Amino acid sequence: MALGALHGELVGDFAREGVDGDLDALLAEAPRAVGVAARGEEALFRASAAMERGCPRVVVRRGAIRADWLEELAHRAATFGALLYEHDDASGYRRAAPRGRSRAQLGGPAAPFGAWLERRAASAAALPVDDPTLGVPGDLEELAFTAGHKPVLYLVKPADEAARLLARHPGAHAATRAEAVAIDPATGARRYGEGRDSTHVFLSASRADAERAAALWERGSSAHARELGALLGYPPCCVAAFEALAARGDNAALVWITERRTRALSASFAPPLNVVLRRVVPFTPCTFSCRLAVARAEGVLDALDAGVASSLLASLSRAVLYLDEARSIVLEGARARGDELAYERAALVRDDGSVEAGVARAKLGAWLPPGGLLRLVGRGVELDGEEVGALLPFG
Ligand SMILES: [Zn+2]
Repeated sequence: MALGALHGELVGDFAREGVDGDLDALLAEAPRAVGVAARGEEALFRASAAMERGCPRVVVRRGAIRADWLEELAHRAATFGALLYEHDDASGYRRAAPRGRSRAQLGGPAAPFGAWLERRAASAAALPVDDPTLGVPGDLEELAFTAGHKPVLYLVKPADEAARLLARHPGAHAATRAEAVAIDPATGARRYGEGRDSTHVFLSASRADAERAAALWERGSSAHARELGALLGYPPCCVAAFEALAARGDNAALVWITERRTRALSASFAPPLNVVLRRVVPFTPCTFSCRLAVARAEGVLDALDAGVASSLLASLSRAVLYLDEARSIVLEGARARGDELAYERAALVRDDGSVEAGVARAKLGAWLPPGGLLRLVGRGVELDGEEVGALLPFG
């Protein structure tokens, strides 16, 4: 297509986004092209969201984002079959295609907080551990499946637990695969073929769906994210946001990326999606207030006993200082006052028995006393003169 025609097509979209900035409303109209008026990180995530939602042409202002992010966007355009252009009035449009193989890593903190913790001395008072909500079943996924919210249930269990899971669903068809899994405590990354002997269980009312999900998983869950996501009942927007990423196996990086994307898209932090305190839904939401993801989470909460659901929702409605999967802190009664954050009580989200969690408990108590006041810096807070964590304001 001639670039002149492309320009004619884009002017309206540029104007519309420039005026109301409502990307969701714009994308709902399935535009043939989207011009991204924003700059920096906001432009990166808005352009990515347009591609993920099927917009065939996306234009960013020349110089509006860093070169490595433009390269990352070009890779994402290739993933979704979209065309990416840079534009300015002086030199018009230039197609941006991937130049190499390297992709930008968007997750993770600016500085390695693990090293920060190692340098600190143990405190006299250890950080308490948060109390889990009583009465919440171990596998909310199984509850969602039983309540009819997902075509296929996929769980990884030790062999004896897998047998008990199958016995609880005598009417369902099961496809199982045995493979050892080791899970890294800090990142949640799974390494297959080592660690604990495990059974991958795919359960469905449909034999074809259970077998299809198992086959897709065997061929590579990342390469078949879209079809597998649909079988597991995940929202397509969340699956596409996941598919857009270069690296997907690090759960800690996924939380950091979702926090950045949520802020860049001016979205909010909906308590049912407080995945750090409890994964009510098993997938990574595209933002922490994704409408479809919230609806899936509310479906699970509705399937719980009403009293348990309201206690769990109250627990999820609290701010979290996220470091990683083993070292994150819930801040009870957190209230922002200008560039400070007052809180009533800080606690480690959970003690999973890992060395990482033990060190965090022993060393963070001194920095996070009851009734404390923290200075907000960057994405997180200042602890002993350094920026630490990402603050997730779910409460
Ligand atoms: Zn979503």
